[in-house]
Amino acid sequence: MPLVTTAGFSPVPFNDEAALADATNEMFLDLAADTEAETLRGRLSDVELIQIQFGSFQDGRGFSLARRLRNIGYQGRLRARGHVISDQFRYALDCGFDDVEISAEQATRQPEADWISDRASGVSYRDRLRGRGLRSEVNDKADTLPVSVAEETGGYVSQPNVFEEQVTDVKHYTDGLFSFRITRPASFRFRSGEFAMIGLPNAEKPVFRPYSMASPSWHDELEFYSIKVPGGPLTEHLQRIVPGDTVLLGKKATGTLVVDALMPAKRLYLFSTGTGIAPFASLIRDPDVYETFEQVILTHSCRQQSELAYGHDIVEQAMADPLIGDLAKRQRVHFATTTREESARNGRITDLIETGDLFRALDLLPLNAVSDRAMICGSLPMVRDTKAKLEAAGLKEGSNNRPGDFVLERAFVD
Ligand SMILES: Cc1cc2nc3c(=O)[nH]c(=O)nc-3n(C[C@H](O)[C@H](O)[C@H](O)COP(=O)(O)OP(=O)(O)OC[C@H]3O[C@@H](n4cnc5c(N)ncnc54)[C@H](O)[C@@H]3O)c2cc1C
Repeated sequence: MPLVTTAGFSPVPFNDEAALADATNEMFLDLAADTEAETLRGRLSDVELIQIQFGSFQDGRGFSLARRLRNIGYQGRLRARGHVISDQFRYALDCGFDDVEISAEQATRQPEADWISDRASGVSYRDRLRGRGLRSEVNDKADTLPVSVAEETGGYVSQPNVFEEQVTDVKHYTDGLFSFRITRPASFRFRSGEFAMIGLPNAEKPVFRPYSMASPSWHDELEFYSIKVPGGPLTEHLQRIVPGDTVLLGKKATGTLVVDALMPAKRLYLFSTGTGIAPFASLIRDPDVYETFEQVILTHSCRQQSELAYGHDIVEQAMADPLIGDLAKRQRVHFATTTREESARNGRITDLIETGDLFRALDLLPLNAVSDRAMICGSLPMVRDTKAKLEAAGLKEGSNNRPGDFVLERAFVD
């Protein structure tokens, strides 16, 4: 049975096999995926290896167990064994696994190259550029680009708390909205739903603004969804980035729109307006969310239909993704409305909650504190009014320190 690490395939060490087979050996634990991590608290300091069994490719409980073991302080080796596919390898590493033991049959179906490919092993795009000599290709291309921020650097000097990352992709949705991707530094960790500071090296002292990561925490690139504010200190320039340009990224990620800040329940509502959908674009592509909640309802309200396009895009991407596609198809609902232009669904989300139209359209009971949790991200009035509706239904606000029934973040500061 091959063992997969980021270096490739190797045989499982004989000592591990023998020690794991010995049920009395308390330094080598072989756990079922439904084990409660809490039952091991206080017993982990001497444990050398924990192996978690994966009975099916669809069953993600082993990933959650790994994460919880790491959260309660387990520092030894952590191995996933059984039904894990190469597309899940990067995610397994993010959850805290060191390696994965697969069957000989699966190793034939998915040979070493599938596992240590860039996406699976977590090699960043930056490394890819270096490793394959593509960096010079990008630079050559950037040299020929007519106008970009690459040409506007105003004496920026590298800072220790800031990464300098390369733009890999830019997509303009409307005159006022665009998304972009940048390389992800190997050491940049975040929880899906968090934000970090973004800037450009176009001045000696660049302007930084908070931006939600729109990509999920397991992805090897970072995606952002942005407004273009006419004359805006950052976005006036940011909207002109092209692949190959440098974007500055603060090293610390933070935020309250994270699954950890909510108590467990059946259903998760993600209420957004405008670019407030960005943190939810991250969350709806994270398998942890579908493990924690049976149903995930993403609502997105914008003035015009064209402003809903990014939401449709990420929902389609989620459904096509090999890692979370099946979960997203089964458990996620997308409810998009326009508030100015006529479309299939119209109205402000707070009005649709008030009248009950939202719940009737989705065939759900009105909000209640037993089965429902929520996150809100949008303009100040939208956040304030939605919060009032949730509180009227008995839901209580939570935070990272004190998980609750809903959490919120303003999508921008007026
Ligand atoms: C926690 C947090 C997360 C954020 N995440 C994102 C994000 O993922 N994507 C994003 O585009 N912006 C996001 N923002 C807003 C972002 O930080 C900047 O305000 C925005 O990029 C504009 O920067 P600027 O310097 O060009 O203009 P600013 O001087 O920052 O803004 C000028 C004015 O434009 C308006 N404005 C700013 N941002 C927005 C917006 N997103 N939607 C509508 N009106 C806006 C406001 O009226 C503001 O006063 C976030 C803000 C916060 C506090």
